[in-house]
Amino acid sequence: MHFKELKLNEKILGAIEQLGYTEPTEVQERVIPVALQKQDILVKSKTGSGKTAAFAIPLCELVDWEENKPQALVLTPTRELAVQVQEDITNIGRFKRIKGLALYGKSPFAKQKLALKQKTHIVVGTPGRVLDHIEKGTLDVSKIEYLIMDEADEMLNMGFLEQVESIIKLLPSNRTTMLFSATLSDEIKSLSGKYMKKSVSIEIDAAEENAPNIEHLKYVVKDDQKLAFLEKLTIIENPDSCIIFCRTKERVDQLVDALDGKGYTADKIHGGMMQEDRFEVMDDFRRGDFRYLIATDVAARGIDIEDITHVVHYDVPLEQESYVHRTGRTGRAGRSGKSIMLATPHEDKFVKEIEAFIGFEIPSGPELSAEEVAKKRSAFDLKMQEQPEIKKSKSEQLNKDITKLYFNGGKKKKLRAVDFVGTIAKINGVTADDIGIITIQDNVTYVEILNGKGPLVLKTMRSTTVKGKQLKVHIAHK
Ligand code: ADP
Ligand code: MG
Repeated sequence: MHFKELKLNEKILGAIEQLGYTEPTEVQERVIPVALQKQDILVKSKTGSGKTAAFAIPLCELVDWEENKPQALVLTPTRELAVQVQEDITNIGRFKRIKGLALYGKSPFAKQKLALKQKTHIVVGTPGRVLDHIEKGTLDVSKIEYLIMDEADEMLNMGFLEQVESIIKLLPSNRTTMLFSATLSDEIKSLSGKYMKKSVSIEIDAAEENAPNIEHLKYVVKDDQKLAFLEKLTIIENPDSCIIFCRTKERVDQLVDALDGKGYTADKIHGGMMQEDRFEVMDDFRRGDFRYLIATDVAARGIDIEDITHVVHYDVPLEQESYVHRTGRTGRAGRSGKSIMLATPHEDKFVKEIEAFIGFEIPSGPELSAEEVAKKRSAFDLKMQEQPEIKKSKSEQLNKDITKLYFNGGKKKKLRAVDFVGTIAKINGVTADDIGIITIQDNVTYVEILNGKGPLVLKTMRSTTVKGKQLKVHIAHK
C-alpha cells in the first residue's frame, strides 16, 4: 500500500516522503483511515511499529491551520518522550506549518506560558505540567478536539491516573480520544471505556508481536557478580550501542561510575537528574557520542533511537510490561536486536512471570567462557578506543534545506502570518510551499524558508516591504 491511498493532503504526503517513509506500516495502514473519521480508537501494536506517525499523520491532516487555540492534546509519561513526539509531529506537519509545542515539568513555566500565547495546533506534554497550565489558565483547552494518550497503559496507571482524569474532566466532551500502547491489559481496556465513546479496537496480530527480529537471552547471576559478568558479556557481544536498565537511580549511579572507571564510554539517565542534563544525555546518545546508556525505566517507554543493538536488563524489571518496553528500545522499524536479562538465583519467580506475560520461555544464554573473552578482547578494546560514528538526527537532516529568517517586526506592528506568506510567496521562484513555520512575537518574527530557497528570500526581502513596512531581515541565530 502507498500513503497516497490514504487520501492525505499533498503537504502531509510531501513531508512523509521527505522522512523516507515509502509505505505505511501495518498499524498506520489500519489506524489512519479510522482516525481520519474521528473515531475513538484503542490501539495495541508492538514497540517500534510506527505508532507515533499513526496518530501524528491524522492529527496533522485534521487540524485546522487557521485556528489559533490548540486542537489536539497528546499525553506522554516522560518529558523525553514528549519532546520526541513533538518533533515527530513537527516533521510530519512541516509543510502545513503545523505548530507543535512540548510542555513538561522541571522546566521554566514562564517560558512555556509565553510559547502558549503563540498559535499552537498540537500540544504534547506530561500530565503534571499540562494540568498545571490548564488550571492556571495558560493552556486554553476549549478548542481541543483530539486527545491522544501515548503509552496509554502507563498513563492510566496509578502514578498518573489522578492527574490524567483531572485533565480529561476539563476537556470538551465532544472530542475524539485515541489510546496507543504495545501493552494493554484487559483492566486498562475496560478502564479506558470511561473516557471513550463507542471505540474501535485495533490490535496488530499477537503472532507478529513476538517477531523474531529480537533475540532474547537470560542468565542467572548473583548480584555481587553482575559487574564482572557484564564486563565479559560486553566484550563478547561488543555492542555498537547499548542501553543497560537498572532498577533504581542509585544502581544506575553506581554502575555508570564502575563502567566509567573501566574505560567504557558510558552515561546515564534517571529521574533524579536535572532536566537539562537528561535532555543532553539523550541527545548525545542519539547522536552516537557514547555507546552505553545506563538507565532506569524512565528511558523504557517510547524512546526511539536508531540502531540500539543491545538492551541489557541488569536488574529484572519489576513489572512485566516493563520487560516488553525496555526490550523494545532495540529492534525498531524492522531492524534486529538483542535483549539480555540478568536474574539473580532468587528471581526465578519474576522471570517466570515475565515469560508467561510475553508468551514464551526466554532461552538461557551460552556460557561466557574465558577463551571466548580472550579471543574477542582485542576487537572490544579497539571499539572502546574509537569514536562512534556520529549520526545526524532526522530533524537535522530535514533542516539542512531550511533557513530560519529573522524580521524585526511582529504583533506590535500588526503583522500576521498571512502578511508574510502573501509577500514571500509572491517572490519569483518561491511558492507558499516553500514557507515553513512562522513564529510571531511582539517585536520580531521568525520565518522558516524550506527547500533551499532561504538565500533567495533573504536577498529579496531586504528590499521588499511586508504590509507596507520595510523590515530588517537576517538569518536567525537560534
Ligand atoms: P512505536 O511508537 O510503535 O514504538 P515509533 O512511532 O517510535 O514506534 O516508530 C519507530 C520507528 O519507525 C521510528 O524511527 C520511525 O521514524 C520509523 N517509522 C515510522 N513509520 C514508518 C514508515 N511508514 N516507514 C518507515 N519507517 C517508519
Ligand atoms: Mg511510541
